[in-house]
Amino acid sequence: QAKRQGGNKWLKYHEGIEQEVSELFALESDLREAIGTEELQLYYQLQVNDKHEYIGAEALTRWIHPERGLVSPGVFIPIAEESGLIIPIGEWVIRTACLQLAAWEKHEETKHISISVNVSARQFYQDNFVDLVLAEVEQAGINPKMLMLELTESLVLEDMELVVEQMYALKKHGIRFSMDDFGTGYSSLSYLSTLPFDEVKIDQAFIRRAASPEHVKDWSIVEAIIGITKKLHMDVIAEGVETTAQQERLLASGCTRYQGYLFSKPSPISKLPLPR
Ligand code: C2E
Ligand code: MG
Ligand code: MG
Ligand code: MG
Repeated sequence: QAKRQGGNKWLKYHEGIEQEVSELFALESDLREAIGTEELQLYYQLQVNDKHEYIGAEALTRWIHPERGLVSPGVFIPIAEESGLIIPIGEWVIRTACLQLAAWEKHEETKHISISVNVSARQFYQDNFVDLVLAEVEQAGINPKMLMLELTESLVLEDMELVVEQMYALKKHGIRFSMDDFGTGYSSLSYLSTLPFDEVKIDQAFIRRAASPEHVKDWSIVEAIIGITKKLHMDVIAEGVETTAQQERLLASGCTRYQGYLFSKPSPISKLPLPR
């Protein structure tokens, strides 16, 4: 009896996995179809300084599925990475961001606003990644300094030597780099001195925890990150800033750049409070 029950459980578990796998396959084939259509959209979340002026925007991909509605990047980006679809999607993101920068360069109010683009490992480690980025920048005719590439610690860890090489190849042309989600993962202070990052983004999980009184130590670490970036002449930006209390505390600690719902939610370009 017990054995049979165990067997049934296993079968149920097995069916559960099968369902999940076929669900993932369905999403993957839908995603493949979505590329190049209106289903994929690039949203932008504005970044501000301590005077609440817009200084940049992070480009965040949205998938509006015809039946499922909005599918979160937390769901479809891993599918895109696994399947290789991140390559065409990533190219589209970089191209779209460059074209948006070209449009912003034409207006006095927006010409100083940079765009940050998330780059996946699979994309970054492609043979032609450097050429591809440079080609899009040139095609759009933009100032390369306005394009910022966001890399994560796990990407950097895979092959530090190659990362340094590719970063310098792009930096030579003015492209800038931001270390995304810093402060949680495998944060190592040595990356910050070895790799030529222009900016460090303090992970939002950190900002969230640090805001609560029982996490005094988290706040000390946030302050230490801010201090180190200053010493290394890098910019520091806090992500996931949701309250004025968080922003004020960050400001008091010397962090003058913020990204979060307090200032701007990721929006389609048409909904941003800026000329297009
Ligand atoms: P990320 O690069 O760390 O992006 C920041 C995430 O935090 C975004 O989630 C953004 O909507 C969210 N966020 C911003 N401010 C706040 C806030 O105040 N509170 C809270 N709770 N959340 C906030 P999103 O758009 O869901 O993207 C999730 C992740 O998916 C991104 O994390 C990034 O790793 C990845 N992603 C999104 N678009 C792309 C893309 O085009 N290419 C690649 N490779 N990855 C992408
Ligand atoms: Mg990011
Ligand atoms: Mg981040
Ligand atoms: Mg994140």
